[in-house]
Amino acid sequence: MNIMMISAEMAPVAKVGGLGDVVDALSRALATAGHDVRVVLPLYGHLDHKKEKIAPIKTLPPLTVRVGQQVHDIRFYRCGSARAAVKVYMVECAPLFDRPGVYTDKNGEGFSDSLDRASLHAQAALLLPRLLDWPVDVIHAHDAEAVPALLYRRQWYAEREVPGPAATVLTIHNLAHQEVHLASAVETLGLPATMAAYPGLLEFHGQVNLLKAGIVGADVVNTVSPNYAEETRSTRAFGCGLEEMLASRGEDYSGILNGADYGTWDPARDKALPATFTPGNLAGKARCRKELLRELKLDGGAAKPLCGFVGRLVRQKGMELVLPLLDRLAGDGFTFALLGTGEKHLEEAVHAVAKRHPGQVAFCAEFDEGLAHRIYAGSDLFLMPSDFEPCGLSQMYALKYGTPPVVRKTGGLADTVLDANGNKGTGFVFEDARPEELLAALRRAEKMWSDPEAWLALQQRGMACDFSWAEAAAAYEKLYARILRPTPR
Ligand code: ADP
Repeated sequence: MNIMMISAEMAPVAKVGGLGDVVDALSRALATAGHDVRVVLPLYGHLDHKKEKIAPIKTLPPLTVRVGQQVHDIRFYRCGSARAAVKVYMVECAPLFDRPGVYTDKNGEGFSDSLDRASLHAQAALLLPRLLDWPVDVIHAHDAEAVPALLYRRQWYAEREVPGPAATVLTIHNLAHQEVHLASAVETLGLPATMAAYPGLLEFHGQVNLLKAGIVGADVVNTVSPNYAEETRSTRAFGCGLEEMLASRGEDYSGILNGADYGTWDPARDKALPATFTPGNLAGKARCRKELLRELKLDGGAAKPLCGFVGRLVRQKGMELVLPLLDRLAGDGFTFALLGTGEKHLEEAVHAVAKRHPGQVAFCAEFDEGLAHRIYAGSDLFLMPSDFEPCGLSQMYALKYGTPPVVRKTGGLADTVLDANGNKGTGFVFEDARPEELLAALRRAEKMWSDPEAWLALQQRGMACDFSWAEAAAAYEKLYARILRPTPR
């Protein structure tokens, strides 16, 4: 199959969170299975052209694309090695993309022209199959930002020559990001005003809602874990108002658990670590712990666990549950290695606790891939008390690095972490989003940690978990095959 991925993120070049990891690993897994996978990304202003091997494609002409009242000049670039299994194309459009940031500026504020960016990205992507003489079987859009591609496919390419069957898939990585705009935004998208008025595809409570349009309009829709699919189709809290739309898709809305890319996330081969380790020999992990303490200027002895956190500092990730406990646990001798950027008020609150407990709480408000690896490897416990979690990759990485995760029983966390009750389980699971519940889970962890034999068995069970991409890719292949109409080429 010829598969075109449209996404705002792809690791490592443009990664904000799990979406970047997924688009990269899923594309490679599908390519390994024999498919021709091509990814189209915006050419963001912060990318290092030399390092990422980004260069203009001289054989493709510069073009103009209309977004709302503006006409933009665009050019296509290639990214990465010409021999790579997955081809990555980037769209250059200076007024819209030539600035740092994927969704937000350096203050964490969302870009006000996000719809213009999404529209241009989608239009450029849909031009590519014809330019490349590459009939596309599946257009796979990721999250709300990529939904315009599905809408244009429906609206415009129904009349124009369709380069291939171009069946459409929408994968929802986070239902909370819906791209909601005033009804007049339909003009920016260049779609008929009727689409923004009831019962038009884009209309939702009098506004334009991109994700809603994608849910209704894509040939098939999925999200990234079976449990989150269930939660979002059956409850308002998780469905964020779109639960009925999701439920109405019946079998055309499903959950496919993400994989973890063990090519990048394997403590036995990880070059970012001061020492490597395996389930059979965890001596390297002890060294990683020691070095992490040194790197972050922490004192943490061996009496109490060192707790790691890596994640976006937003409400979703449950930092509100961690914050009220930090003073107390630091006073008790726990140490914390926290890495994350996001909402300013959360960053400030974490900075304030770190300042109160130098040597016990370290906070790094940066995006630092290497440090993330070292926290997964060097910590004793991994904190992931998310409010909701579509899939979550961090807990999978923590398991692989012998760092039992402490998670709330929600979304993909419930699908991937089993509570350590007796001789089974891989981590510590709690139900309600309350600091006391997280504290109780941490106390259970502390107790088990003081029993080295039980702890080692727990670590080894986690390290043996295999959330491989091959399985997830096979599930996506099935999804594609289901919607591919037998259209003659
Ligand atoms: P989400 O997609 O909601 O952000 P996931 O758990 O699916 O959550 O994926 C998060 C990914 O982003 C992981 O690879 C994690 O290591 C990475 N990450 C998050 N914040 C940072 C950061 N500040 N520095 C480095 N990596 C980070």
